Amino acid sequence: MNDSRPDRCGIFGGTFDPIHIGHVKTVRQVMQQTELPLVRYIPAALPPHRPRPGTNAKQRLAMVDLALRDQGDMIVDARELRRCGHSYTVDTVESLREEFPDIDFSLILGLDALLGFDQWHRWQALLSLVGIYVMVRPGYALPDPIPDWWQTADTSTPGSLAAGKIQAISIDPVDVSATGIREGIRAGQDQHHVLHPGVWQYIQTHKLYE
Ligand code: ATP
Repeated sequence: MNDSRPDRCGIFGGTFDPIHIGHVKTVRQVMQQTELPLVRYIPAALPPHRPRPGTNAKQRLAMVDLALRDQGDMIVDARELRRCGHSYTVDTVESLREEFPDIDFSLILGLDALLGFDQWHRWQALLSLVGIYVMVRPGYALPDPIPDWWQTADTSTPGSLAAGKIQAISIDPVDVSATGIREGIRAGQDQHHVLHPGVWQYIQTHKLYE
């Protein structure tokens, strides 16, 4: 492999309906604290744990693309939108590993999502393939007791995270949600301050969420 190509990559999934500054600023903090050189943003087609999003896949993908256009080390990955049926994370990771066998992948998740991790489809198989960076807001305690499957990462070797290990990353919260943005737009409020300018322009051009 060419030395300039990253050998580690984060995976950040979501509905991104729409992608907002919280999605970028928090992942940026994870990258800074973990020396993660690249993150793939993977918009979900039919999320197993959530109702179907309102905008279509092409529009959500276009917005992620716009939001990341000026971030060289964050890229959009449309594989879940190309696949038919549910998008289970384990399937996505298996497909990434097949395509990029020399890259170590890690999931980036919020603490809420991680607490339900042992309900995910084939979660043990997933944990055998990836480590997890869990974003923790200041003041939020880790679960007590820590679940049996939660193996805390050895952080004495910065710049690596073994499969099956979980590393907590303390994040300054960004108080934004896509739900709040959609509601704000429906109520006629300007939302440009929480969106990339290109995304705000796209939403207005296509009259999304009105
Ligand atoms: P919605 O309000 O529609 O549920 P959302 O803003 O939470 O959307 P998602 O696309 O569901 O956005 O988020 C993808 C991932 O980003 C999830 O893991 C979610 O926890 C995380 N996330 C969303 N908003 C923030 C934020 N402000 N700060 C940190 N993480 C966030």
